[in-house]
Amino acid sequence: MAFSNDVLREALKQVSDRRKKAQREFEKQKSDIYEAHPELSDIDNQMQIKASRAALLMFSGNTFEAEKLQKELNELTVQKARILKSAELPEVPECCCKKCNDTGYCDGKLCECVTDLAASLSYTSLLGDMPLDVSTFDSFDLDYYSEEKNEKGVSPRRQMSAILKICRDFAEKFPEGKNLLFTGSSGLGKTHLSLAIANEVLKKGHSVVYGSAQNLITEVSRETFDRSGSTAKIDSLNSCELLILDDLGTEFSTQLSSSIVYNIINTRLLRGLSTVISTNLDIKQINDTYSERVASRIIGSYTVCPCFGNDIRLIKAKKAKK
Ligand SMILES: [Zn+2]
Repeated sequence: MAFSNDVLREALKQVSDRRKKAQREFEKQKSDIYEAHPELSDIDNQMQIKASRAALLMFSGNTFEAEKLQKELNELTVQKARILKSAELPEVPECCCKKCNDTGYCDGKLCECVTDLAASLSYTSLLGDMPLDVSTFDSFDLDYYSEEKNEKGVSPRRQMSAILKICRDFAEKFPEGKNLLFTGSSGLGKTHLSLAIANEVLKKGHSVVYGSAQNLITEVSRETFDRSGSTAKIDSLNSCELLILDDLGTEFSTQLSSSIVYNIINTRLLRGLSTVISTNLDIKQINDTYSERVASRIIGSYTVCPCFGNDIRLIKAKKAKK
């Protein structure tokens, strides 16, 4: 698993915040109980006095008196524990993660709770508030695709069913598979499939960055011209285990955006990292919009999944009206 430093730092910070919050709540609960049970402070005082007296007696060799005091101390300890228990104070602050007690580390390694959190952070940081569980493979409904065959004798349903299988295989075997390119007009479920892949790959604990080409290109160009010298965005695009580039071709195309796209695609290919791209453009249009080198990189190393059929958003809208 490889997460950007920013994401890991944030995940560790959140886990540490959890621990501090649990500690604060524990202290608050304890002080409320002391307020409701004034005898507790009394017991504490007595215990302190008896403990130091017992120590002195032990030191002067009067073990008989010391043991007597120790017995009284034990009784007070039991009494105190009984009151605290009846007031429902847990023995220690209640942690979210029982494995690492919210320290973030387990046997000298990062705890699973941190890597899980980092996985969902890298996902949400570029996705905004899009709900993770809406677009899954199970919620991908093939009934929306017509069974009417085209001139090549293939119906949209058959085509999409084959593509769905490719996507499921890709997610299941991740990170073994290579790269996917979804082509076809809007409203055919390309984004749904990309999200479903992201969902499954994240569940397996891999890092995923998801974003529209427009947003990612804007962020990278901002970083390129930023004087601070930070390369966090570019690094995460080049190093996450799965990059999902949604809606390629809808951004305002310039020489800079073309070179950003080429650099991302090329770097990831060289590093053997998977990328999933969805676009309304066909390969010829990719060639025209970006450059021949972008198109040839894609043709050479992506499994192309041409989606076709009717806009299912329109079909859903019509259905909802009825
Ligand atoms: Zn943990």
